[in-house]
Amino acid sequence: TVAPPSPDGERLHPHVESVLVTEEQLRTRIAELGREIRVVYGPDEELTLISIINGALVFTADLLRELENPIRLDCIRISSYRDAVESRGVPQVLGKLTLDIAKKHVLVIDDILDTGKTLDFVTRMIRKHGPTSLRVCVLLDKKDRRTVDFEADFVGFSIPDQFVIGYGLDFAEQYRNLRYIGTLKPQFQHAS
Ligand code: 5GP
Ligand code: MG
Ligand code: MG
Repeated sequence: TVAPPSPDGERLHPHVESVLVTEEQLRTRIAELGREIRVVYGPDEELTLISIINGALVFTADLLRELENPIRLDCIRISSYRDAVESRGVPQVLGKLTLDIAKKHVLVIDDILDTGKTLDFVTRMIRKHGPTSLRVCVLLDKKDRRTVDFEADFVGFSIPDQFVIGYGLDFAEQYRNLRYIGTLKPQFQHAS
């Protein structure tokens, strides 16, 4: 899936090794995802989007503009257990939902499905609030990395087991503003 940088002549960030998904591929696929979501819910059903920030922020902003349904939006943060002892591996929700989601159609949005722990945890938490329906949409899916049994209802791109950055995804809080999904050169894969 290695593609050239965006065709509009945008310069590649000097820390980027390869581009996995170009800006144009993102735009095209996210418009398709909007159509897939509309087919499932119909055009009139109200949706409550729950975006897992910060990573899903950019994806959410683009995806929700592909939906013509009435939309409510809430955001949650999950503690980055990755920075702690990985073996504990228990995600925690930081902050609470501000919207009431009982009897609502809830669509959880995340940037990437990796081990599955985050979304497994988040969907269990949300289910306790009694939504009418609960589905998950992720931009990226690293299927090879799964440690818990979890699949998303809507997937933008399946990607190989590589650490990716850009389009909302960070390394040490950098690179979220890149317009494409890419990998880092090895010499930049350590926190400074
Ligand atoms: P999981 O709980 O499925 O293992 O991890 C999901 C979270 O880990 C994502 O929401 C994202 O924040 C982070 N993550 C997993 N893989 C990557 C990656 O390749 N790049 C970045 N930047 N974050 C990742
Ligand atoms: Mg995340
Ligand atoms: Mg992160």
